[in-house]
Amino acid sequence: MAATTNANPETPEIRTPSNFLRDIIAEDVRTGKFGDAVVQTRFPPEPNGYLHIGHAKAICLDFGLADEFGGKTNLRFDDTNPEKEETEYVDSIQTDVRWLGFEWEKLCYASDYFPQLYEWALELIQAGRAYVDDLSADEIRRYRGTLTELGKDSPYRNRSVRENIDLFTRMKSGEFPDGSRVLRAKIDMASPNLNLRDPVMYRILHATHHRTGDEWCIYPMYDFAHGQSDSIERVTHSMCTLEFADHQPLYRWYIEQLAIFPSQQIEFDRLNLTYTLLSKRKLLQLVSEKRVSGWDDPRMPTLSGIRRRGFTPEAIRAFVGSIGATRTNGIVDIEMLEHFQRDDLNRRASRAMAVLRPLKLVIDNYPEGQEEFVEVQNNPEDPSVGTRQVPFSRELYIEQDDFREVPPPKYYRLSPGKEVRLRNAYFITAKSVQKSADGSLVEVHCTYDPASRGGNSPDGRKVKSTIHWVSTAHAISAEIRLYDKLFSKANPGETEEGKSFLDNLNPDSLEVIADAKLEPSLAGAKLEDRYQFERVGYFCLDPDSTPEKPVFNRTLALKDSWAKIERKAGA
Ligand code: ATP
Ligand code: MG
Repeated sequence: MAATTNANPETPEIRTPSNFLRDIIAEDVRTGKFGDAVVQTRFPPEPNGYLHIGHAKAICLDFGLADEFGGKTNLRFDDTNPEKEETEYVDSIQTDVRWLGFEWEKLCYASDYFPQLYEWALELIQAGRAYVDDLSADEIRRYRGTLTELGKDSPYRNRSVRENIDLFTRMKSGEFPDGSRVLRAKIDMASPNLNLRDPVMYRILHATHHRTGDEWCIYPMYDFAHGQSDSIERVTHSMCTLEFADHQPLYRWYIEQLAIFPSQQIEFDRLNLTYTLLSKRKLLQLVSEKRVSGWDDPRMPTLSGIRRRGFTPEAIRAFVGSIGATRTNGIVDIEMLEHFQRDDLNRRASRAMAVLRPLKLVIDNYPEGQEEFVEVQNNPEDPSVGTRQVPFSRELYIEQDDFREVPPPKYYRLSPGKEVRLRNAYFITAKSVQKSADGSLVEVHCTYDPASRGGNSPDGRKVKSTIHWVSTAHAISAEIRLYDKLFSKANPGETEEGKSFLDNLNPDSLEVIADAKLEPSLAGAKLEDRYQFERVGYFCLDPDSTPEKPVFNRTLALKDSWAKIERKAGA
């Protein structure tokens, strides 16, 4: 499709990437395919884990496209599998959808439709379109055949309607043990599509469901529940990922046999990211084996994890919008997501000074006991957020990295005899160092030029470097958590024989700095605040913080590797 453009001449042109889903919906609205029904979509998570960044793509498409066409979106829990589903997940999913910025029209549960689905199953039996099969799961698999081998009819396929009704109602009333019988659709054991070879509709499972308790001991399969749930909610466009494409003929078959509202399934590409696993099963394994601290570990690709890490819904929506939707699966560079996040934080994050690995600096010619305050802009990108006063005194912390006793070539930061600028404050020149008995550096002594207050010298003298600092007497101590990629392989699922994705975990994905020194204004940080620690990166407060010991997470380092990639690609 042609990229849509922003027609408003006041604002710069915004290009929306091609998205074939939008084209389909626009065409259906134009032709009145669903009569006067509004565009209705749904987001249908199974509550068996926390939502991840892949789900964010589906959410933005489901909610975003309905919104564009003045339609509505339901949040529906696809809760047909009682063994793996939990209320904890139901709650976290709602929190995450809202956090992303979306509100559903109705909150629905597939389990609310169990009575209706049961009625429809009876209807299909009556019509000779479904039968109770006594084959075991293994036998059913063998009878199904393969892509190159036709399936075989089950010996129970031609049971009478009466016998089927009798057996199915007894399945429901709990007479039979788990796995002893199933209800199957009677379609075509010779179909080239394996999904149409008499798929299972219901199985017996004496399990307690998170909502219906012990009311049911038969549960519908995903395929027998999903399309009909869509139909009940009058979903016009049921968007899902490509792996469901082969299920679409079955989705349509049930709807046609039952002559119910003709919801339309459309498949789009799954989001895959480099260095990232987006499988709930594997994420659950990381959590249950305590490879991470929980579903919301800041290294996890879950929405709760990246939220805790400091990612923002605005950046995630912009990222998802930029990748569009296609009909072939691909893989997106994780740096692209980080690029959108840096872009957002650069505009919004308050600047602050924090020294992660402190080295003491003493200004010998600064009066002892004196303090002063320098005025600093909170965000040079946004003057409207004002300024703050940062205390300055004779003893400061600087980064260990910003001083070299013997500077390597092209090292422009502080070294003996060299002059640098202390950010927002004064020019200083390093004079001497003090060492401990074991030879390690204890402190650096320097002098300052009182005429250079504010960071410029009246004689126009230039310095090659500006370093950040925190006054020792005013500093607050904090724990800092630095994160790196959770996996060290671009494709973490790719493993050698006998190894698993766990072997691809990056052993250095978390580094904890126990005692960093922060400017005092950071004592007032709140969980929702976002900071750029100047020259270091983007940070936010972690919920593990206590009043005595704040904890900050590094969302991202400053360097923009994406820009580098782009430059390389352009070159
Ligand atoms: P997993 O494979 O991790 O178990 P799932 O697809 O089974 O994920 P659901 O809870 O069924 O998880 O997903 C809800 C919706 O989100 C579905 O419509 C699904 O297609 C979509 N979805 C899941 N993963 C992705 C992804 N990586 N990219 C885009 N959409 C996704
Ligand atoms: Mg699923």
